Amino acid sequence: MYYPEPISKLIDSFTKLPGIGPKTAVRLAFFVLNMKEDDVLDFSKALVSAKRELTHCTVCGHITDQDPCPICQDELRDNSIICVVQDPKDVIAMEKMKEFNGRYHVLHGAISPMDGVGPEDINVPALLNRLKDEEVEELILATNPNIEGEATAMYISRLVKPSGIRITRIAHGLPMGGDLEYADEVTLSKALEGRREL
Ligand SMILES: [Zn+2]
Repeated sequence: MYYPEPISKLIDSFTKLPGIGPKTAVRLAFFVLNMKEDDVLDFSKALVSAKRELTHCTVCGHITDQDPCPICQDELRDNSIICVVQDPKDVIAMEKMKEFNGRYHVLHGAISPMDGVGPEDINVPALLNRLKDEEVEELILATNPNIEGEATAMYISRLVKPSGIRITRIAHGLPMGGDLEYADEVTLSKALEGRREL
């Protein structure tokens, strides 16, 4: 089907988003055309500023608009415990639960030899540096309960264990193959509570 170029560009942009197929992209593009101009401007500004103003915390890797991030700057949080997660969205899921008062480390991915992703490709070297510099007593490995998440937890565990730091893995109340970010607060809280030694 033929669309004027501005619309087909908009459709192409929507198609790049996850979970948006061609039909939905067309529907969204036409929806935008019918929006008030002010709302469209606000929407486009929100997209650009989310991208431009957010950066990764140089300490923990979480997304933030200030560096270090508010969690790393918070003096009331427990420095002796770091929870390692794959994705910034996992930090947000953990924070919503309001039961964890330690620090985080965001890996931005998981080790996946099949996809050619090694430890150096995710935020592992920064974690190892933190463990040298900070007085960490426990490392909670809260990577996703799937093959890549398990492999990543095992890798970090083997690497860190000789240092004497306590290493725990969150329990599997979490659905296998699932993503941490989709776990409800009760499930996540139980998974954290039931963490076991590695
Ligand atoms: Zn941080």
